[in-house]
Amino acid sequence: MAKVWVFVRETDGGPPTLALELLTKARDLGEVTAFYAGAGSEAAFATVGEYGASAVLQVDPEDSLVGAPVARAMAIQIEADSPDLILFGQAYDDRDVAGRLAARIGAPVLSNAVDVDIDGSTSHEIFGGSQIARAEITEPGPKIVLVRPKSFVASPSGGTAPSVTKIDLPDVGAASAKVTASHVEEREGPKLEDAAVIISGGRGIGSAENYELIERLAKRLKAATGATRAIVDAGWVPYAKQVGQTGKTVKPEVYIACGISGAMQHLVGMKDAKTIIAINKDADAPIFTIADLGIVGDVHKVLPKLIEALEART
Ligand SMILES: Cc1cc2nc3c(=O)[nH]c(=O)nc-3n(C[C@H](O)[C@H](O)[C@H](O)COP(=O)(O)OP(=O)(O)OC[C@H]3O[C@@H](n4cnc5c(N)ncnc54)[C@H](O)[C@@H]3O)c2cc1C
Repeated sequence: MAKVWVFVRETDGGPPTLALELLTKARDLGEVTAFYAGAGSEAAFATVGEYGASAVLQVDPEDSLVGAPVARAMAIQIEADSPDLILFGQAYDDRDVAGRLAARIGAPVLSNAVDVDIDGSTSHEIFGGSQIARAEITEPGPKIVLVRPKSFVASPSGGTAPSVTKIDLPDVGAASAKVTASHVEEREGPKLEDAAVIISGGRGIGSAENYELIERLAKRLKAATGATRAIVDAGWVPYAKQVGQTGKTVKPEVYIACGISGAMQHLVGMKDAKTIIAINKDADAPIFTIADLGIVGDVHKVLPKLIEALEART
């Protein structure tokens, strides 16, 4: 049976959704070990087990920047365990560790995958997701694959508590760095990546002040708020709200795009939403080619009416 490792970077005291997605996939591919970077807890390890890991290798980076020491710890462990496949999420710490690990053990990396097979061959979306390219690592040895968020649906398997082995954090000398402060982005309402409904604004909303319309509608619908890169670059909203190729990948039940043209780089981040609703004053805007429901109109007229109608209901 193939040995599959899944890198789990602890977030808010437990495994992030992205790691649970990878664990869900990994259990179809072989025997799963979670390489867990974080303080850990019985509850966190139980969750990792529930999603498919039979073993946990835990390393606690405490306040160290994870990249260098965790990659080294993994490299040492790989010599002993020889995993066939190592899955990482397409996320900051994951990318940092994966890149350093690849350099350390001389293994190739496939990144931005949306699917992975037992032999380490992968699928990648190209041309805005309109085509799928297949890739394969032909080198012998562990195959390192970085997977995009929302490529798999996280679902528990009912697995039992895994065995947990604690590994010491190795010394990386001059490559070590400490995290001296971290900042948690303030947010109201659900998390963008996990929200069932998302309302996003683009340049068509006209100004930073008008983003308030997006927020008011979101509040009514208990939705998360998103944005295009155009309005993030303009400084209207923080980068944490950006959806797309260089922002977040989302897969909500409903995505409402307000004043968004539908550039390919935006579409790759939201095209898998179950229902897409677009409001744009230009009937030829590309967003309408993927919308399930399109409203050709001015957001400054449509949004207040929509909010008014929802407010009248309560
Ligand atoms: C390498 C690279 C990476 C990128 N990554 C991302 C990414 O991650 N996410 C992302 O979003 N973009 C990304 N972009 C940018 C992308 O190409 C587009 O420029 C951007 O998505 C456009 O944003 P927009 O739709 O808000 O603006 P625009 O393209 O300017 O569209 C505004 C739309 O609003 C409509 N409109 C105007 N006024 C109104 C009104 N009153 N009522 C209704 N509709 C109105 C217009 O008809 C138009 O369709 C990237 C680009 C590059 C090169």
